[in-house]
Amino acid sequence: MLAGKVPVGSAVPPRNTAPSGKGSKVLVVNAGSSSIKFKIFTAETLLPGAAGLFDRIGDPANCVLKASVPDDGGKPKKFEKKIPAKDHLTAMQDIMSFIDENVSSTFASEVCAVGHRIVHGLDMSQPKLLTPDVIRCIQDASMFAPLHNPPHLQGIYASQKVFGPDVPQVAVFDTAFHQTMPPESYVYGLPYDMYEKHKIRRYGFHGTSHKYLVDQAAAMLGKKVSETNVITCHLGNGSSVAAVRGGQCVDTSMGMTPLEGLLMGTRCGDIDPAVVLHIQNQLGLSASETDTLLNKKSGLLGLTGSNDLRTVIEGAGKGEPRSQLGLDMFVRRVRKYIGAYMAMLDGQVDAVVFSAGIGENSALVRGLICDRMQALGIAVDKDANAAAVGGKQADISGPGARIRALVIPTDEELSIAQQTLQVVRGAALAA
Ligand code: ADP
Repeated sequence: MLAGKVPVGSAVPPRNTAPSGKGSKVLVVNAGSSSIKFKIFTAETLLPGAAGLFDRIGDPANCVLKASVPDDGGKPKKFEKKIPAKDHLTAMQDIMSFIDENVSSTFASEVCAVGHRIVHGLDMSQPKLLTPDVIRCIQDASMFAPLHNPPHLQGIYASQKVFGPDVPQVAVFDTAFHQTMPPESYVYGLPYDMYEKHKIRRYGFHGTSHKYLVDQAAAMLGKKVSETNVITCHLGNGSSVAAVRGGQCVDTSMGMTPLEGLLMGTRCGDIDPAVVLHIQNQLGLSASETDTLLNKKSGLLGLTGSNDLRTVIEGAGKGEPRSQLGLDMFVRRVRKYIGAYMAMLDGQVDAVVFSAGIGENSALVRGLICDRMQALGIAVDKDANAAAVGGKQADISGPGARIRALVIPTDEELSIAQQTLQVVRGAALAA
């Protein structure tokens, strides 16, 4: 869908002034094309509460709400319920009814703010209270994130309708953290008009995660964020690396869209752009078929038949050459970026941080990435690396390492809740 063509729902119109935002709970919403993920946090302590996923919205026969609600002892109680939600608004209303029945019957009045994950925010460098201008920006950015931003807007309209104008809603952009990149990092080598007139530039993604990792790494290193230089590796189904100097992003591997950079589960990452022209001109694929090929059929999936690195590792273990190639390519691309970012940061790096599904769980991949990097100051302790699984922070640096190697589980929802509260409290102070 093109920019400006996103249907503006019959939502409560966003206001320009800060709403009151009283209450003790923050609701984090991540709306996709056929799903809404949610998580509740206590505002004061930022402790997580109930969380869930409403999946297959718009497919009433298969629509299901899965949730986890901590009991009085903090043990998670699991729920799974088929609810026929025809659109995001009915799904949001059903989520509220579920919370009403299973968490707190006064929840709606306890919510002090709603934070929305937004994939693309163009040049927005901070999370923003939702105003007509911010909504317009999310609409405009849909041209670069056609699968993400329009459903985010549906989530926004639905929760505005459910909560009304007095609960402040905040947009937290995946692109915002990367706005500190200098032009030499974000401008493409295209005619300058492409940037000036058409906003074609590198934006970067996973910013909420990279920001969280930088804050956590600074705490682990006992440094101020503003004095922390790190290379953060968010390695999941989608993967990206960021170079961070003094707490600020100076470069990142994803570009105008999340397609650029590392080899990913289903995305090709960096390729010669002429490959795209060749595929279209010589092999006859349409623009949309090429888009599907590069975003959904490439990467580990295209090379090995599986987008799941666990399956790829298993295949490599059995001697399957394509699985070995996929694993080697994944590792090589991360090493290439780490090496490039070491140079970009003048070798002044405090730590390399590993996170997300692969970075948090695969000692094998972390070990392969850091192998033979002693000359760069990176060394990993074998036992500490092997023990660093299961969602805990760990320093896996080996003896003689000049640069720490850290494993830090990411928590994008917590980061969104934190940023949402900062915006709402800032707006309240300014009012
Ligand atoms: P995303 O949020 O981008 O969908 P995640 O961060 O949840 O992805 O990461 C999912 C990926 O993590 C899976 O595709 C899988 O390849 C990988 N993964 C999870 N555990 C392991 C493991 N123990 N070893 C290797 N890869 C793993």
